Amino acid sequence: MIDFDRKHIWHPYTSMLDPLPAYAVESASGVRIRLTDGRELVDGMASWWCAIHGYNHPVLNAAIQDQLGRMAHVMFGGLTHAPAVALAERLIALTPRDLQHVFFSDSGSVAVEVAIKMALQYWFAAGRDTKSRLLTIRGGYHGDTFGAMAVCDPVTGMHELFRSVLPQHLFAPRPESRFGEPLSGVDADAFESLIRANHHELAAVILEPIVQGAGGMWFYSADYLRRVADLCAELDVLLILDEIATGFGRTGKMLAGEHADVSPDILCLGKAMTGGTVSLAATLTTARVATGISAGGGVLMHGPTFMGNPLATAVASASIDLLQADDWQGRVAGLEAQLADQLLPLAAHPAVLDVRVLGAIGVVQTRRPVPVAELQRHFVEQGVWIRPFNDLIYLMPPYTISSEDVSRLTRTIESALDVLEEVPVSPENR
Ligand code: PMP
Repeated sequence: MIDFDRKHIWHPYTSMLDPLPAYAVESASGVRIRLTDGRELVDGMASWWCAIHGYNHPVLNAAIQDQLGRMAHVMFGGLTHAPAVALAERLIALTPRDLQHVFFSDSGSVAVEVAIKMALQYWFAAGRDTKSRLLTIRGGYHGDTFGAMAVCDPVTGMHELFRSVLPQHLFAPRPESRFGEPLSGVDADAFESLIRANHHELAAVILEPIVQGAGGMWFYSADYLRRVADLCAELDVLLILDEIATGFGRTGKMLAGEHADVSPDILCLGKAMTGGTVSLAATLTTARVATGISAGGGVLMHGPTFMGNPLATAVASASIDLLQADDWQGRVAGLEAQLADQLLPLAAHPAVLDVRVLGAIGVVQTRRPVPVAELQRHFVEQGVWIRPFNDLIYLMPPYTISSEDVSRLTRTIESALDVLEEVPVSPENR
């Protein structure tokens, strides 16, 4: 199996000729991933931030099975169904009050495309075609499709290769004011001068609120986000918050925007929405944007084949109910305390540049890029699943993980730092 996989199947961001190794999984349950060779790994990744309740959860499985008995899918053009309506009701209830209109799509990147499209269509419909550019901050990541790539960090966002064919948007520097600290004058001025100079051509500002994920795992000041939102409102630029990675409790709030008490014009959700079972995303917007687009007979020009998929929407409602019935805030606060307790001391290690913790996210940033394949092997040998990238070794476990398992993850990171010292980084092992 591994041999066929290696020869024929592309994995994320890999070469077909010299791919990074992939480990074969037989099953996953709770916070354990079981490999086909019988080894069991403690999951520190929640499958790229999604599996917040752990794997093979009986409540989520039952929601899918129950819906499967009625229908797996029907087209959303001209038809609707209870699972989609029930989920839209939940999303409207748990997001800021002004967000009243929901567009379902199948992945986070597409939700971002739809958000950008909504912003552009809003200004086109208002007769202000010159408002067609976007402003964002460096260090961001919004997905791999073309519209989304154009607002990822041009360097750390992995899409430098495509720079010549992407629309040229505006980038403010990454805010250096850290989460929990006040906004620095330098950060405030850099953003303010860009938006003031360009607002006539800006359709929207797009940001990951508080936590920049795949672009560098950076946590910035809530004051910065508040300042951005105020400037957007003052200068008539729409604000798009990409909560695909941060939504559903990961940062200690249901939505990361709540840290700054900010309500966007457009909001993207995805990843953890279905508890890590199947792909689903949503873009929500306000009555102002929705009616603006639709005034004079306008329609939103998007409609994916699997839009509002009944299995996905049914399991998403079940996942949200499960989260809300649980003391998720207590769980995430407990994880934050333990991650801080066990990871922050690693800042003293000579291989470490910085350590930061927020909610159920723990990040160890190393001084040099890590040799991914070697480190991965070390982690698997130690019985944990942690996938580092660039200079970042991070944990984003299911919220249901026990404190013993968290300790196992953090201890293994500590041991990996010593391995790091020994392995030289070459292009092949990055
Ligand atoms: N936005 C953010 C903030 C993300 O973290 C991601 C995925 N890492 C995306 C968008 C893209 O989502 P997807 O991979 O589901 O297309």
